[in-house]
Formats: sequence, C-alpha cells, structure tokens
Amino acid sequence: MNCPVGGVPGPVRNRGTARGLRWDEGPVVLVDELGSGAGGRTLRTQVAIVGAGPAGLVLAAVLRQSGVDALVLEQRARGDVEHQYRAGVIEHRVVEYLRDRGLAGRLLSEGARHGWCDVVVDGEPVRIDYGALTGVQHWIYPQHMLVQDLLAELDAAGRPPLFDSPVTEVDPGLDGPPRLRGPGFEVVAEHVVGCDGVQSAVLRSFPEQGEHRQHPYGWLTAIAELTAPVDGIRYAVHECGFAAVMPRSGPLARLYLQVPAGEDPASWSHERLLDQLELRLGADPGRPRVAEVLETDVLRLRSGIAPSFHYGRTLLAGDSAHVLTASGGKGMNLAIGDAADLADSLVRHHRGDPSGLAGYDRRRRAHAANTLAFSEEMLELMHLSPAEDPAAQLRDRRERVERLAGTGPEAVRFAGQYVGAGQLPIGVPPA
Ligand SMILES: Cc1cc2nc3c(=O)[nH]c(=O)nc-3n(C[C@H](O)[C@H](O)[C@H](O)COP(=O)(O)OP(=O)(O)OC[C@H]3O[C@@H](n4cnc5c(N)ncnc54)[C@H](O)[C@@H]3O)c2cc1C
Repeated sequence: MNCPVGGVPGPVRNRGTARGLRWDEGPVVLVDELGSGAGGRTLRTQVAIVGAGPAGLVLAAVLRQSGVDALVLEQRARGDVEHQYRAGVIEHRVVEYLRDRGLAGRLLSEGARHGWCDVVVDGEPVRIDYGALTGVQHWIYPQHMLVQDLLAELDAAGRPPLFDSPVTEVDPGLDGPPRLRGPGFEVVAEHVVGCDGVQSAVLRSFPEQGEHRQHPYGWLTAIAELTAPVDGIRYAVHECGFAAVMPRSGPLARLYLQVPAGEDPASWSHERLLDQLELRLGADPGRPRVAEVLETDVLRLRSGIAPSFHYGRTLLAGDSAHVLTASGGKGMNLAIGDAADLADSLVRHHRGDPSGLAGYDRRRRAHAANTLAFSEEMLELMHLSPAEDPAAQLRDRRERVERLAGTGPEAVRFAGQYVGAGQLPIGVPPA
C-alpha cells in the first residue's frame, strides 16, 4: 500500500475617569494617544491582557461591556492577527454565549450549521448523527473572521488592542500590582491575564510551566478550495493513517493527513496530498473535489495542562494554560470557555466578591482535563498504532465507531461532548 513513510453581571463602578483607564494613582495614557503601538509609555488599566487571540479578545470585549477596563497587548500587526487561518468548528454553547453578549452577529448570519460527521473506517463510512442525539448543532465559522468581529467590537468600544507590542517581561504581582514590560513600554494593572498562546511569556513567569506530551506523528494540514461547500465533517481511519476534511466558509475546507512527526510540508506536492486524501477517505463520486490547495503546514501534535492557571495577581486563559491537538476541534472553544469564566470572575471581583476568582484555577483546570481527555480519546480512535496488527485495529475501530453512531449511553455522551451541548459553565460558585 502506498502509504507515506513513517450571565456576566451589569456594569461595575470604576474608580477612575469616564473612559475608565485610571484605576489607581499615577500617570494615565489614553489608548487613543498611542497610535498602533505602546512605545515609550507607562499605562495603567484594571485588567491587562496579553494576546489578541479568541481568549484575549472575548475576555476584553465582555469586561468592557461590564464596565471593567481592559487593555490588550498584541505582539503582531493587526493585519497578521486578522488573517490567520486556524479553527473553524465552534461549539453550540460557545455560540450561545457569544450571541447572548451581542458578539455573534456575523457568525449567526454567515456561519453554517452541521449536525453529522462521517467516519470512514477502511473505506466504509459510518455516519454519527450527533445533531439528532443532542438536538443541537455545531457552527462552522473561521477563527480569523471571529477575531475580526471581536476586534470590531473593541474598536466600537474605543479600546482596540495595542498591536506591535510584544510583552517581554512579566512581574506576576506577588507583592504589589502586576506589571508587563516590552520595548519602551510598561503596563501596571490590577490583574494580568496571559492569553498569549502556546509559547506564553506569561506562563514563563509562573514557578512551574509543566510539560507537553508529544504525539509520535504530525498532521499535514491544508486550506483548499473545493468544487462545492463541504456538507459535513469527514474523518478517515486507515492503514495509511488518519485523514479529515473539515468545512470552512463557502467552498473552503481544511484538510488533514497524518504524517510522520517533523515532516517537511515541502516534501508533499499537492498531487501527493490529494492522492493520499482520496485513498484514505475512499472513493465517493458525490463528494466535492479539491479545486486548489491554497496553503499547507505540518502541525506538531502535543498536549498538556499548566500546573496552575493563577499565580499572584496573574491568570492564564486559552492555549497559554492548556495545549490540545486540533483533534475534536476543542482548543478555541476551551479558550473562550476560560475567557467567559474569567470575565465573570473578574467582574464579581470588582464588585467586591473575590470567590469566583479564587475558584477559577480549580474550575478551569477540571474543564481542561475533561476536554483534553475527550480530544485524546478522538485522537486514539482515529489513529492506528504501528506496533499492532492493522486489520485487528481496523475491526476494533469499526465496532467503536458503530457504537458512537448508535443511540446508547456512549453515543449520547460522545455526541454531547463533541457538539458542546448545553451552556458554558459560568459563575459556578466554588465548592
Ligand atoms: C490548524 C488548526 C485548526 C484548529 N481548529 C480548531 C477548531 O476547529 N476548533 C477549535 O476550538 N480549535 C481549533 N484549533 C485551536 C485554536 O486555533 C486555538 O486553540 C486558539 O487559537 C487558542 O486561542 P488563544 O486566544 O488561547 O491563543 P492564540 O489564538 O494563539 O492567540 C495568542 C495571541 O497572543 C499573541 N502573543 C503571544 N505572545 C505574546 C507576547 N509575548 N506579547 C504579546 N502578544 C503575544 C499571539 O501573537 C497571538 O495573537 C485549531 C488550531 C489549528 C492550528
């Protein structure tokens, strides 16, 4: 076989100016005076957020809606942030949360809904109708469009992120207010939140960073234009490796192929990629064809959870706190769940109730552990071990997938976790 080798409370009363930047004594620089970067200034804010990804932007937007001052510092230029293709599968409960806060306007009008996926085991598809089992569906909406929408919300609130402002030094605030420093700027805040992704500078200021589990394979991924929009997610479990086609906006799709860890994307011509995709997904004349491959990359598959999400007056949310593989489409959803909990906890804190913030670490590490377990379960289901008999493993996978396609308790649990049924658990009082 030719396989490749190998409910936020209402407004909070600010102690400062009508524009809300000032929460303490000292010079105040208004964001409007700064231009695109933060160079040469000392800034004061209530919540300083590092990173303008989904976690940082949702947190900033919801805090601003509740009257808590938040300032986002982003190392990259705005254009780069607005055009980075990544996630696309958004849980039902995350969309409900964004909708309830007026942050899902374009998502609701332009996003697509999907309620089933096909798992093709050794060429034979099995349909999992998770929409029928849960009564709700996924949303398909590209991450960079959600990021654009959230940036527009912060623009309208008069507080866009400070772009081109890399944070290089973090004082987590053990004996006083936490501070962030970068080239020519310092930010003094009441709380700092690291939403700065996998290479988090904020996490590096914590006493322990934890470790990532490295999986023994990678995923070649591509953004491709298809001959028609994809009508549902398709996964392949195959002797040559995993493959998937995930819908994105219109005729765009994200493709995945299991490849050896550390593979150079340049060694995969578009022809080779499409041949392997066809082989693993099986022939289906009704399926839209790939018209053009637009960009390719190889993802390192790793996972792990930081030992603590809270140190001094500094907190973590999103990929800085936990790294998941792209399996199951959970990273951005978990990141927005963190942001939702933290927004609620910080608003309560500013109203004089510190209990939410005190329980944040415990609550969100428990959610991260559950989500990571689900994501690893999917990874294990979809990949075969090179040490075991492929035929026996394919039989096992088919049986397992058929159970998930049924209506028993295992299928109901899987469907609920996969689609993100219910509501984001926000404001749960600490036990
Ligand atoms: C190919 C792919 C597909 C995916 N598909 C899905 C999916 O379908 N569903 C899903 O839920 N998840 C998916 N994910 C995961 C999802 O993209 C991430 O989990 C999500 O981006 C995490 O958001 P975040 O805000 O925590 O971090 P990020 O989006 O990584 O944002 C962090 C930001 O911090 C900035 N930053 C970093 N360091 C600094 C610094 N020192 N100073 C200032 N700024 C800094 C970065 O420039 C960046 O803008 C996918 C990921 C990939 C790669």
